[in-house]
Amino acid sequence: MNDDLLSHIRIVLVRTSHPGNIGSAARAMKNMGIRSLALVAPKRFPDPEADALASGADDVLAGARVFDSLPEAIGDCVAAYALSARMREWGPENFPVREAAAAALADASGGRVAFVFGNEASGLTNEELLACQRHVRIPADPAWSSLNLSQAVQVVSYELRMAATAGALPPGRPEPLATAADLEGLYAHLEQASIASGFLDPANPGRLRERWRRLFARARPEREEVNILRGLLKSLLKPGNSRGE
Ligand code: SAH
Repeated sequence: MNDDLLSHIRIVLVRTSHPGNIGSAARAMKNMGIRSLALVAPKRFPDPEADALASGADDVLAGARVFDSLPEAIGDCVAAYALSARMREWGPENFPVREAAAAALADASGGRVAFVFGNEASGLTNEELLACQRHVRIPADPAWSSLNLSQAVQVVSYELRMAATAGALPPGRPEPLATAADLEGLYAHLEQASIASGFLDPANPGRLRERWRRLFARARPEREEVNILRGLLKSLLKPGNSRGE
């Protein structure tokens, strides 16, 4: 996992009008392990609406740095990716967000990397876009392609996290899986029980053995699950419990 590279990512919100969007963006970032937030000339910040929507990401808001202009906010970055739904005639090279996230992580091994988002009503100006080296688009429905600002931040943060972690979840408590020998033991036991019960005629077995092998191969059972089934078979095979005994 390269999730330490996420600490090199900075989310930059330019001329944000609604403080609620700043709070929601902070929450979206923190969920994905991104904590560095920069605000360029926000209309209202700090603001109780931002605090309310951050919902637990107040540390991200408290750490947010406020700048007067975009060049100041990205001055120390080795790469800046500008988010805009709209194609421009003269803009930086454009990439879909998934590709951009992978490229940005490669850049992040060499320094800080910014993702820059525009104002809710007007987006990024051409000048702001040209201050960045790459133009990123979220491939939404072309007929309705403009996302809410904080939701665009969520998509970008998620893609960055997926690029950094390959989608891996933190390891859970692994239960040991059944080994080949455990499974052979189960198959022998199943055979014994099905013959004893009259379910399987050994002279004419059909494809029964192949089918249960395929079933358990697909299920990849845990060792404990195989033990439970064998316990059940053992109990069914007790004298008096099975046919013919
Ligand atoms: N009405 C504005 C869009 C504002 S949405 C316009 O026409 O540009 C607020 C910000 O979210 C945008 O500036 C951009 O940074 C980001 N955003 C929203 N939808 C996007 C998309 N499909 N692709 C890339 N960025 C998007």
